[in-house]
Amino acid sequence: MPDSYYQDALQHKIFNILSEAADDINVEAYVIGGFVRDFFLKRGKAEDIDVVAVGSGIELAKKVSEKLPGKPPVKVFKTYGTAMLKIFDLEVEFVGARRESYTEDSRNPKVEQGTLADDQNRRDFTINALALQLNKKDFGKLLDPFKGLEDLKTQLIKTPLDPEVTFSDDPLRMIRAIRFASQLHFKIDQKSIQAIKDHSERIDIVSKERIVTELNKILKSEKPSVGFKLLHDTNLLQRILPELTHLEGIDEIDGQKHKDNFWHTLEVVDNISLETNDVWLRWAALLHDIGKAPTKRFHKKIGWTFHGHEFKGSKMVYQLFKRLKLPLNDKMKLVQKLVLLSSRPIAIVDDDVTDSAVRRLIFDTGDHLDDLMMLCEADITTKNPKRYKKYHNNFKVVRHRIQEVEERDKVRNFQPPVSGKEIMETFQIEPCREVGEIKAKIKEAILDGDIPNDYEAAFQYMLKEGEARGFKQA
Ligand code: ATP
Ligand code: MG
Repeated sequence: MPDSYYQDALQHKIFNILSEAADDINVEAYVIGGFVRDFFLKRGKAEDIDVVAVGSGIELAKKVSEKLPGKPPVKVFKTYGTAMLKIFDLEVEFVGARRESYTEDSRNPKVEQGTLADDQNRRDFTINALALQLNKKDFGKLLDPFKGLEDLKTQLIKTPLDPEVTFSDDPLRMIRAIRFASQLHFKIDQKSIQAIKDHSERIDIVSKERIVTELNKILKSEKPSVGFKLLHDTNLLQRILPELTHLEGIDEIDGQKHKDNFWHTLEVVDNISLETNDVWLRWAALLHDIGKAPTKRFHKKIGWTFHGHEFKGSKMVYQLFKRLKLPLNDKMKLVQKLVLLSSRPIAIVDDDVTDSAVRRLIFDTGDHLDDLMMLCEADITTKNPKRYKKYHNNFKVVRHRIQEVEERDKVRNFQPPVSGKEIMETFQIEPCREVGEIKAKIKEAILDGDIPNDYEAAFQYMLKEGEARGFKQA
C-alpha cells in the first residue's frame, strides 16, 4: 500500500515546532490518538494533543519548550515518564513509545521502551492507534497498522489485539469502548462485545475515578441511553450502578402492572439531554427514580406504590456519590434536591391547591426551579399522544401558577424581612433559641400566606410572637 500523507492535519504552527525539536534531538515523533482520530472525523476543535516519541518524551518536551517564546515550563510526571506542556491554547502530552507486558497477578504492567508499533499495540482501539509522523522527512505520514482508518469509515470500535488481551490488560477499556460508541455513534465489534460480556466482573479492579471519567463522558454524549443500554447488555451496569439495574422489570399481581422504571429512566435521560448539556442535571435524570426499587409495595386495593421514593432516592444519591468518589459538594446537593422534589410540581396542578403550596415549592427549590421543571417535563415518556399533550399542558399550568405567585410574593430567594439582630434589639435579649424560633415562625407565616411578605407585617408578627414568649418591646 502506498504511503498516505496528511499534512493538512498538521497546519497549526505547533506542529512545525514539534517537528524541528524532534529532528534536533534525532528522535522519531508522532501525533497519536484522539487528535488524529478527530481530524479524520472532522470532529470539533482539539484541545489536547498526544505526542509519542521513540525515545524520551520528556527530552522532546524540553526541546520543544526551548523553542517557544518565553520557554513555558515542562510539567514532568516522573512515575509515568511523561511530560506536559501548555502551548498557546493547547495541552500537549509527551510520552515515550513503550511496550507493556501484563501478568495475571498484577494490575500494573511491566513497562519497557519500545518502538512505535509496540506503542500502537498497547492502545485501546484501532481508531485510537492512528499516528501521523512529525519528523521533516516524512511529515504528515499516516501509520495505521490496524486499518483504523477503515474502522473510522465503517464506524467500528475494535481492539488492535485480540479483545480478550486488550480488555484483560486494562479492564477500563471495556467501558471506554462503550463510551466511544455512545460519543461517536459507532458500533462495537461483535468479538469485543462478547469479550466484555465474558469478563465484565473484571471491572471491579478498576479505580472509581477512572470509571467515573468515562461515565461522565457517556452522560455527556448526545444520546446517553446508547451507552447505558450497552453497559446494561454487557452486564457492566449491574456492577457499577446496581441502583439502576434494580429498577428493571415489570411485576404483575392480580392483573396490575407498573412500568419498567429502568428503561423509563433511560428515556428521561435522553429527554433532558435535548434540553441541557449540564452533566449534573443529566445525573439527576439518571437517578431520579432510584428510590423506587426499595420502596415498591403492592396493595390489594390501590395496586403498586412507591411511597417516599423521592426521599429514599435522595439519600441513596449520597451513598452512590460516595461509593463512586463523585464530589460530595453542591453538585451532589443539587442532584439530591432535584430527586427529592421531583414529584412536587405535579402536585400543584389541581385548581384547589392553595397558593401556599406553590410558595413552598418556590421556596424549597430556590434557584433551581427551571432545572426541576426541566426534569419533570423530561419525565414524561408516555407513548399515548393524548396523554403526552395533557401532561405537558399540566406543567404549563404549573409554570404559570409559579410565575404568578412569584411575581406577587417574591419568595424565590426568600430573605426574612426581620433579621435575628432586629429581634434581639427589639426585645433587648441575648442570642438564644427563641430568636431562631421567632424567625422560623415569621417564615412559616409568610409561606403559609398568613401574612404578606413585607417588613411591616413581619414586624407586627414578631411582636406578637415575642410577647407570647414573655418578651417585651424595649
Ligand atoms: P477524548 O476526546 O475523550 O480526549 P481520546 O482518544 O483523546 O478522547 P484520552 O482518554 O484522552 O482519549 O486518551 C488519549 C489516547 O490515549 C487514546 O486515543 C488512546 O490512544 C490512548 N489511551 C487512553 N486510555 C487508554 C487505555 N486505557 N488503554 C489504552 N490506550 C489508551
Ligand atoms: Mg484526549
